[in-house]
Amino acid sequence: MNFRRALVAAAGELVLPGFKNRAAAFGAPAGDRLARFNFLLARARAALPAYDAACAAALGGRAGLSSFEELPRLPAMSREDAAGYTGGALARLESGGTGCAGRVETRLDLEAVVARYAGLLAVLKSAGWDMGDKVAALHPVEYGYFNNLQGMLSAGQFGKAVFEFFQQYALYRLVHNRKNVYYDHRIFSEPGAARRLASAAAAERPRLLISRPDALMALLRSLRSPGGPVFRGLKAVLTVGTALGETVRREARERLGAEVFNMYASTELGYAALSCPASGEWLHSDEERHLLEEGPGGSLLATDLDNKLAPLLRYQTGDAGELARRSCACGRAGLQVRLKGRVKNFIETASGRLYESELIDKAFPSDLPFFQLDTAAGGLLLPPGAGEREAARVREALALPVGGYGLRAGESFKISSSGKFCHIL
Ligand SMILES: [Zn+2]
Repeated sequence: MNFRRALVAAAGELVLPGFKNRAAAFGAPAGDRLARFNFLLARARAALPAYDAACAAALGGRAGLSSFEELPRLPAMSREDAAGYTGGALARLESGGTGCAGRVETRLDLEAVVARYAGLLAVLKSAGWDMGDKVAALHPVEYGYFNNLQGMLSAGQFGKAVFEFFQQYALYRLVHNRKNVYYDHRIFSEPGAARRLASAAAAERPRLLISRPDALMALLRSLRSPGGPVFRGLKAVLTVGTALGETVRREARERLGAEVFNMYASTELGYAALSCPASGEWLHSDEERHLLEEGPGGSLLATDLDNKLAPLLRYQTGDAGELARRSCACGRAGLQVRLKGRVKNFIETASGRLYESELIDKAFPSDLPFFQLDTAAGGLLLPPGAGEREAARVREALALPVGGYGLRAGESFKISSSGKFCHIL
């Protein structure tokens, strides 16, 4: 008997009937999707006048869809639309949105928070984790609770301060047995810093490691030179983020002896897709609770069927990706998604357009240092100590146009306010 699991399941069922089933399998059946969509559409239209007018024009005066074939008729929802939701919410989650200016606030009620949590448990279960198994989560130091506490309190966000304390220290630390391991941006420029992160993570002897793709890359690279720490008992790595090169998964298997599960999740949408050991660069989409569509310019539109308080319908994610109905070697068939990176962040090369994950696949297996390409201002950023020779190797490896992306010597990497490293700015 796993008491922690039983406790969590009982608490979850109190708030959200069906919690146990949801937590047991990623994409577990959820019932009539069209009825749920139309309910959310009515809520969104009642709350957002401009969106309502656009829907009225698209549907010829009807209240909702008669089938999902009509879905592409509806207007896509932007961040500006989503900012129109007002009123109380249990949780207001802020996300920076990699590569985007400004922040967006996602508003959730208690049921949606618990639904998100069930989604997380389903993801962890798919990765082979059971409640109480040791987890190490790599976090940029910018995310540290006590680093942000003063700011939350001085902004009068007392509810948020308590909510996050509960999440990190009661739920994750005590119930999940998760330990946060913090790092700063030096892991991308100093091999010693990345090695120390690897040692600190290995010392926790986790069964599951949770990381962003960028930190996982730094950790793996630090293990390429001999004498590094050994991850004993590690079974799986869960990466959170849109851009993970397939080459990174391969090397994680080799160096950590662990399977990498790549998750498509965001503050706005929750847990929308998850890879499996057989799915390669594709991820299984959670079709029961998320609708994914290809939008203009290769961007993804997403609908979260769980958020009743502030519904996001055909929301412009800003992520670039491809969708296909395929059957997977694991036996499951259905909608799958291949993520490329942020839709705005790409470079043109002699061999075509490259997004973040495609660039990672080209650069990661080599011994090139971490680098950044600034597409707006132009130029190539390298870690301290690297110079023209490394810059030339980067340009050659990516087949960058001759004369473009000159080295900006003496400048440091640009790290987003949430501590995220991107190759393409
Ligand atoms: Zn599969």
